[in-house]
Amino acid sequence: QKAEWEKLKNEPSVTADNKKFIIAANIGTPNDMQGVNDNGAEAIGLYRTEFLYMDSKNFPTEEEQFEAYKEVIEGMNGKQVIIRTMDIGGDKHLDYWDLPEEMNPFLGVRAIRLSLQNEEIFRTQLRALLRASAYGKLGIMFPMIGTLGELRKAKSILATEKDKLTAAGVKVGSDLQVGMMIEIPAAAVMADQFAKEVDFFSIGTNDLIQYSMAADRGNDNVSYLYQPANPAVLRLIKHTIDAAHENNIWCGMCGEAAGDNIMFPILLSMGLDEYSMSATSILRIRSLMKKLNTEDIKDLANQACFVSETAEDNEKLVNDLMSKLT
Ligand code: PEP
Ligand code: MG
Repeated sequence: QKAEWEKLKNEPSVTADNKKFIIAANIGTPNDMQGVNDNGAEAIGLYRTEFLYMDSKNFPTEEEQFEAYKEVIEGMNGKQVIIRTMDIGGDKHLDYWDLPEEMNPFLGVRAIRLSLQNEEIFRTQLRALLRASAYGKLGIMFPMIGTLGELRKAKSILATEKDKLTAAGVKVGSDLQVGMMIEIPAAAVMADQFAKEVDFFSIGTNDLIQYSMAADRGNDNVSYLYQPANPAVLRLIKHTIDAAHENNIWCGMCGEAAGDNIMFPILLSMGLDEYSMSATSILRIRSLMKKLNTEDIKDLANQACFVSETAEDNEKLVNDLMSKLT
């Protein structure tokens, strides 16, 4: 099987009926680029920049960040790179940043909330990203957006930094995209309004499931509730994809579910545009995609969201479908 997958390394990601989708890689540092190339990723769908901060003894300077972002962007030779602004807080801490203890860190000052409360640190990262955008095709993505107010604030800070750089004669990429993660249920519900203000969505199922089911993503004692194929979760995902397409923007997914054998056919049926996963999953999913015909699975999304009652129903639905194919 591995040898079969290996042959797909330089092939495009297409379905049995020749529909093209993007299979992208998630990375944590520029060192992950080897795996990205070895597995034939068509883009970087998520670069988690918090590792740059976590692997450092102090806040990484604008110059250090610029070098890291540029290395990844150049390494992709014009293919799209989505870089997410830092997601510190929750379970991720920095030794050199003494933040107040919180009762519920996953519901506290995390990701974009922390960035908006510490604007200078945020502005430094945005300047590094803007400067790096001149070296390829960059998308800047904001994590944990819950309200339009947060999105507008983040975008306005980005626009201010962009204007300052341009006025100073610094080159910024002309096709820079700005997007947001959909990982808070409120944002999924309001996706139709968010879609009017960004270039793309990327659905973060790791957190979207946690917050939808009120089940800690790392707690084994509630893992029975943490089900990607739960119809409630699938309805939020479908609503988000539909809202994106009605507003002519693209929608990806960078949570673990994008590379899951049960979830993938359902997401394909929903018309998700981009699937971002750990590099080692790419060839397995590309091979699965080749077996699926979009006409045959046209109805799967509706079944999975509105007929199925449980995640188990959906596992059976997909397993039955797959057994008919092979
Ligand atoms: C997610 O929440 O699905 C996601 C991709 O972000 P992270 O896993 O970094 O929280
Ligand atoms: Mg997340």
